[in-house]
Amino acid sequence: MFFSHAIIEKLKKLPTPYYYYDTDIFELTLQRAIKASEKVGGKIHYALKANCQDKLLQILSTYHIGSDCVSSGEIKKALQNNILPENIVFAGVGKTDEEITYAISQKIFCLNIESIQEMEVVNEIAGKLNTVADVALRINPNVDAYTHKFITTGLTENKFGINASDLTIVLEKLPQMAHLKLIGLHFHIGSQIMDMSSFKNLCLKVNEIQRWMEERGIVLKHLNMGGGLGVDYVHPDKNLFPDFESYFAVFEKFLERRPYQLLHFELGRSLVAQCGVLVTKVLFHKTSGSKHFLIVDSGMNHLLRPALYEAYHKIENISKYLETPDELYDVCGPICETTDYFGKNVLLPHTERGDFIAILSAGAYGEVMASNYNLRGFPNIYFSNEI
Ligand SMILES: *Cc1c(COP(=O)(O)O)cnc(C)c1O
Repeated sequence: MFFSHAIIEKLKKLPTPYYYYDTDIFELTLQRAIKASEKVGGKIHYALKANCQDKLLQILSTYHIGSDCVSSGEIKKALQNNILPENIVFAGVGKTDEEITYAISQKIFCLNIESIQEMEVVNEIAGKLNTVADVALRINPNVDAYTHKFITTGLTENKFGINASDLTIVLEKLPQMAHLKLIGLHFHIGSQIMDMSSFKNLCLKVNEIQRWMEERGIVLKHLNMGGGLGVDYVHPDKNLFPDFESYFAVFEKFLERRPYQLLHFELGRSLVAQCGVLVTKVLFHKTSGSKHFLIVDSGMNHLLRPALYEAYHKIENISKYLETPDELYDVCGPICETTDYFGKNVLLPHTERGDFIAILSAGAYGEVMASNYNLRGFPNIYFSNEI
């Protein structure tokens, strides 16, 4: 069982459905990530899109972590929560003119440019603002992340970044871009990456690209290696903390870093996934042939990951935590969609109407994707240090 008896007693008193965030787990995760990153001298920019709860961001800001934003809304959110502009990076394939204007005028650290056309537009907007924008090129390194195809971003067939083969064109155009200052390169190959060899392959590709650019007289002060470190969704209790040590060690070992270079990382999921759970209550138990369905009061409207990426989450019946799991259930939401389920053939103790069900490892890409679909409203939010 993931929770202690004392926490379960508290959780069973709160009105469902709700997200519950353990701020101690969050802080311990941050501390471990920072400690491991310091060995490589890397700066962490938390990817806000994984979870943008103000209370979590306020904790984060006390650790002087930066942020990785993918919209002007996220930049605003980061600034409101005391994250300094000089620690904010801005990525995204589709930045609007308004967003580019906002980012430049807030004097954020860097805009990550994802296409040749975007480079021209940012140059033009910076010119209108009478300034020079610091930019990095987001390069698509064509490295396989060996993760679910819906969360792979670094292959030629994906929409993200500038294709490495277009770099000649970029370098030809760059001297005409009087309002851009190229400060570095940016990469992000995907999410929920468990195989460290993907990061090694990324390093080898980056070594090649930066050598090629240096031969053409380009000095790269910053290398931003993106995020993507995965978490253990199957055994969150055994592996509560991601293996930050091994992750950062790969970059230490394989990335050819120049003495003047600064490294940046954009961890999202690995910092917040395990501190959050979605708690829901069983409305009905029904059978159909040999199948047992548990219909609960939350669904894809609050946690979209299973429906969107066939994602696995560990599920526990916290009302019956002392009993032996001996029955198989499909745990389904109330939404009128066949993909509205949290888990299939989930082994649980005999479960009844009114039981509390916890969907574990739901802190990342959970609440941020909640919708009001079917007009069922949004989930409640609780924090361990407030209940
Ligand atoms: C989503 C995203 C991240 C964070 O990815 P995680 O897998 O959550 O670590 C980092 N950088 C960019 C550009 C992203 O789009």
